[in-house]
Amino acid sequence: MTTSTIDAAEVAKFEAMAAAWWDPRGEAAPLHRLNPCRLDYICDQIAAQFGRDRRAPAPFDGLSLVDVGCGGGLVVRGQVLVGANAIAGEWGHNPLPWPHDDERPGPACYCGKHGCLETWLSGPGLARDLFTHSGRHLPAAEIATLHDADALAALQRYEDRLARGLAQVINVLDPDAIVLGGGLSNLARLYENVPRRWGSYVFSDQVATRLVPPLHGDSSGVRGAAWLWETDESLATRREKPHDL
Ligand SMILES: [Zn+2]
Repeated sequence: MTTSTIDAAEVAKFEAMAAAWWDPRGEAAPLHRLNPCRLDYICDQIAAQFGRDRRAPAPFDGLSLVDVGCGGGLVVRGQVLVGANAIAGEWGHNPLPWPHDDERPGPACYCGKHGCLETWLSGPGLARDLFTHSGRHLPAAEIATLHDADALAALQRYEDRLARGLAQVINVLDPDAIVLGGGLSNLARLYENVPRRWGSYVFSDQVATRLVPPLHGDSSGVRGAAWLWETDESLATRREKPHDL
């Protein structure tokens, strides 16, 4: 039995490309050509969100810019479930369920739709929500430390949206546990408040699913990504200790 669902041929294919990845005239040339357009769009969105003038010499001075989103994965009987389209558990681009009137159509998402869970539940989503309701520009990490009325209201809205999003996961998959990841998984109040709220949305009188923090903190996602990097040594270790991860 193996805990890996990695396709060795796929790994080899991208490993072979890695050396030429940054060559603008190499195999990744289309991506290099696409990138200025992509960055231009991202800069426009950031400037609009934070009221910055892109023609200024340093338009984003003082902002902390992090490329973050919201996604997921599924583990069934100790194995990662990939799915027919390799998107099993990719949850962030489903729409926010049971939207309130002021949540429709929801923020524009880079995927081309509006109101994706990612636009509400990522760190920037929390920051945007506080700005929408109070006009205050603060990063999510700072909002999480505040106890004033604006911040607490934003966190309560965040928790209710997370509860709605996870309730749909529970209604479909009925998992034993949901493990949060990323920076907002450091927010201790989520583990109490979200399960308290999701009972209103799950189609069951009782919800036994547990909401738990990541074992390795908010760097767990990076560990997971590193784990996908196969080496002869790691393969040998994994064969010896298939569950010790
Ligand atoms: Zn989307």
